[in-house]
Amino acid sequence: MTPEIRDALKSALGPKGWTEDPSEIAPYIEDWRGRYQGETPIMLTPGSTDEVAAAVKICAESGVAITPQGGNTGLVGGSTPKGEVLLSLRRMNAIRETDPLNDAITVEAGCVLTAVQDAAEEADRLFPLSLGAEGTATIGGLISTNAGGVAVLRYGMMRDLVLGIEAVLPDGRIWNGLRALRKDNTGYDLKQLFIGAEGTLGVVTAATLKVYPRPAARAVAFAGVGSIGDAVKLLGMAKKASGGAVTGFELVPRNGVELVLQKIDGTRDPLSEPHPWYCLVEMSFGRKEGAEETMEAALAEAFEASVVQDAAIAKNETEAQDFWRIRETLPEAEKVEGGSIKHDISSAVSLMPELYERAAEKVRAVTPDARLIVFGHVGDGNLHFNVRPPEGEDDKAFFEEYGETVRAAVHEAVGELNGSISAEHGIGVMKRDELPARKSPVEMDMLRAVKRSLDPKNIMNPRVMLTD
Ligand SMILES: Cc1cc2nc3c(=O)[nH]c(=O)nc-3n(C[C@H](O)[C@H](O)[C@H](O)COP(=O)(O)OP(=O)(O)OC[C@H]3O[C@@H](n4cnc5c(N)ncnc54)[C@H](O)[C@@H]3O)c2cc1C
Repeated sequence: MTPEIRDALKSALGPKGWTEDPSEIAPYIEDWRGRYQGETPIMLTPGSTDEVAAAVKICAESGVAITPQGGNTGLVGGSTPKGEVLLSLRRMNAIRETDPLNDAITVEAGCVLTAVQDAAEEADRLFPLSLGAEGTATIGGLISTNAGGVAVLRYGMMRDLVLGIEAVLPDGRIWNGLRALRKDNTGYDLKQLFIGAEGTLGVVTAATLKVYPRPAARAVAFAGVGSIGDAVKLLGMAKKASGGAVTGFELVPRNGVELVLQKIDGTRDPLSEPHPWYCLVEMSFGRKEGAEETMEAALAEAFEASVVQDAAIAKNETEAQDFWRIRETLPEAEKVEGGSIKHDISSAVSLMPELYERAAEKVRAVTPDARLIVFGHVGDGNLHFNVRPPEGEDDKAFFEEYGETVRAAVHEAVGELNGSISAEHGIGVMKRDELPARKSPVEMDMLRAVKRSLDPKNIMNPRVMLTD
């Protein structure tokens, strides 16, 4: 980058809007897992949409590439620059407006998810997106990765929660698409292009999001089941018995529970005996009365049908949070234990047992003693299929020897069942080279056509998602 471009960026953003100090930049050029290390000539921290636009315009005119970044919790290397200008949105964290009568909230892209949840709560509303990284992940990042989380079953993914978007296009123009409309059939739904775009089509600077009435009560249960097949059956039974009140339905394996109990302080096993798999079931209700009874009735029916082996219903909010903690701290417990070859895969809900069996069989054919830690969002057909080295083997050596073949084996199972190799985390750098093999040539052409028409100079996150 020439000194002239640097100076232009610095004067456009003012002293608070940039840094070249390596120690300040260091935490932002490594990803959450420590898997991707990057570099950047300058980190920009604009404080307004106009400043973002000014910075992008300077970069566009000089052909300088940009990597947008929010909370840097993405898991596929998409927010780690490799020589690009790092554009962090974290200073843009204002809640612009809450409109409870329209069930909508407008926030800037750098707002951390918990801040948006809190702002919605202040207006007696619920912003339902919830995930393990919610204290750090930002709205811009969550939109750009079409994040999911634990309430997708009831409220959908980010794609379903966005009413409008404000974005800076790759040429520096501002698009104000902050419409708070539930019905708007005036052409292509352009905001959807930015959702899940991983920063390749522009910089999201603000969004109008849907909020919902806060449920009056929730019932949370931790149920032991014998197989993923039984978990899927239990999901169907719980949905039916509750009249569609299931908001979360998560799967945790026995070895996952054991890991959490070992690594995370203050956790305890909700059930007295071990079971091969566990389902965390949450139901939400508009009225307090009958919440626990509905959960009880669903579990009793499942117990009679031998779908559930044992279950505990949370007696109070603290216990409900304790149950959830087991699921939510599992990625953290795994991280403490060591690395794994991770897969974020999905299939139709009904095909999940087969997806698991096929993938496990193919992995065993490659490395028979590898340990599997498989958990996820049963309600969304999404499994985090993680493969750990055999007991006593070195992580790094295992990844080097088996990383590619294990990934190919798991993704082959996904392909056979017409599933997705990226249910939640996106393509990033991690899965970029595999994408053409998983999409038809027609689909790849359409993806590239969108990219080229919005970003002809290829300056927005050019190493992410699409090659050439
Ligand atoms: C413990 C843990 C649990 C997680 N659980 C889940 C889960 O349940 N479900 C799920 O979906 N994900 C999950 N994730 C992944 C991650 O939290 C999400 O991908 C999140 O959406 C990333 O938000 P971020 O602000 O950290 O984005 P970043 O990591 O900063 O960026 C992610 C991508 O979005 C782009 N980007 C960021 N901000 C903008 C912007 N304003 N405009 C344009 N592009 C932008 C970046 O360039 C990058 O490609 C989890 C991660 C962790 C660490």
